[in-house]
Amino acid sequence: MLHGLMMDYPLTLDVIVEHARRMTPRKTIKTKLPDGAWHEYDYAEFYRRVKKLGNALAALGVEPGDRVGTFAWNTFEHLELYFGIPGAGAVAHTLNIRLSPEQLKFIINHAEDKAIFVDGTLLPLLEPIAAELETVERFVVFNCDQRQAVNLPNATHYEDLMAEASEDFEWRCTDEDMALGLCYTSGTTGMPKGVLYSHRSMMLHTLGVMQAAALGPTEADVVLPVVPQFHAMAWGLPYACAWVGATIIMPGRHLQPAPLAEMIEGERVTIAAGVPTIWNGLYHELRRNPRDISSIAQLVVGGSAMPRGLIEAYERDFNVNVAHAWGMTEMSPIGSVSKLQTRHSDLDEAGRWDIKAKQGYFVPGVDARIVDDDGREVAWDGETMGELQVRGYWVARQYYKLEHDHEHFTDDGWFRTGDVVTIDADGYMTITDRTKDLVKSGGEWISSVDLENRLMSHPDVLEAAVIAIADETWGERPLAVQVPLEGSCDEQALNAWLLERFPKFWLPDRYVAVDEIPKTGVGKMDKKALRQMFADGELDPHPKPSAP
Ligand code: AMP
Repeated sequence: MLHGLMMDYPLTLDVIVEHARRMTPRKTIKTKLPDGAWHEYDYAEFYRRVKKLGNALAALGVEPGDRVGTFAWNTFEHLELYFGIPGAGAVAHTLNIRLSPEQLKFIINHAEDKAIFVDGTLLPLLEPIAAELETVERFVVFNCDQRQAVNLPNATHYEDLMAEASEDFEWRCTDEDMALGLCYTSGTTGMPKGVLYSHRSMMLHTLGVMQAAALGPTEADVVLPVVPQFHAMAWGLPYACAWVGATIIMPGRHLQPAPLAEMIEGERVTIAAGVPTIWNGLYHELRRNPRDISSIAQLVVGGSAMPRGLIEAYERDFNVNVAHAWGMTEMSPIGSVSKLQTRHSDLDEAGRWDIKAKQGYFVPGVDARIVDDDGREVAWDGETMGELQVRGYWVARQYYKLEHDHEHFTDDGWFRTGDVVTIDADGYMTITDRTKDLVKSGGEWISSVDLENRLMSHPDVLEAAVIAIADETWGERPLAVQVPLEGSCDEQALNAWLLERFPKFWLPDRYVAVDEIPKTGVGKMDKKALRQMFADGELDPHPKPSAP
């Protein structure tokens, strides 16, 4: 074999920051602070602080390979951590602030985080569990007034650490196969599972995100990542934006429709990215209080299906182009984007919206196949359904500390997504169902199985099933169907029972009592039949006649 003679230039994250320092040092990063004022600095200053952070981490005793947690909104400090932690050879473990205390404890202990960097506004969520975090030696607090009480053991202020640290730092990410980040994602049952990104996979993902067929940010863009940094690496935008030198607008904790509308108008945002719930809220806000959002070239939406009607409404009412994306934490996360191609130029409006409502066209670098129940690959004809399996440069090959996992990974090297899809002859994918027994509400997962198990342990409940019901605001909400042991169940009591274990947003919106829960041939609860019974949010528990 004749080998090529090209350099083995490493796919490590320092390449991005070094490039930004040289190419776009004057471009800016702005953060909305808790009081509504702006914090602003340029990439040159960002670079200096990332290097200081490298030294600060070393001074804290963080070694290459150590996991370091972040518990924060989207802010400039969180962005520094995104680069500084992997730059120090350690692993940025982004903690989802919406998890229950039980889940948080589990993932921090499972990851064996050595230190946690926490936003001062989120202390009340972390302080109560701090004593049960087995491996955390240090807490570092930022975005926090020095006079504010911090009830965490071994806590330091971020800015104190930064003030002491030198800017002279040698990158410790010396190998592209080193782990860079860790993000846990919900399983159908039990505790979340960790996805461990490498420098190589994340650099290739970043190049993927930079493709025009994907999100394609450029230096000229002003990018507002509303998607939290604790959700699948904010869809890779922080890394892609820094590499191209785009202006970054970090919304901090201001995720409500009115401040978002103000930010988009005031900062002339060109790319904004978030889940459908966010854009649904913004749409209604703009109808009430009009603002000029014409600067937006791409309203990126993903994480849940974007309703076709909302895509249409944005385009029709505000002339805003929606880019509907599908991805997964396990895919870093970008998988597909529903952008129009040249061959769609003669389509009418309705045809265009149909295409945009699909989950999209696979980004180069992602390979896909559909497999039926018998494990056979099926045709891309836009009609035949099956489970979507993927592989590629930025797809996980295993969950953290979970070897020999034949449930999620096939023997021939594909990842099983748990999404049921069709793909048309042009390569556009449509999600039709999920094999994962989960509810996705406002971009956050709720485990139906965990809710069911807890409900069934209540003394008044004989049997319970939880299914997702379509919801205009949240995408999906849980509906609990239960068979009472006698007479009826008190909903308030059931809610209180669930609240002992789960966050408030997990509580079912509705409870419906039935005589019996339908079962499949092998005696499992037939969720498909239940979903059909309660389709479209109608709460009449009688099967609809099927279409002729
Ligand atoms: P997560 O890992 O939390 O990002 O969740 C990934 C899952 O969210 C996917 O497997 C899908 O079930 C769902 N999902 C993500 N994007 C979309 C989308 N555009 N439309 C429908 N479902 C989506």
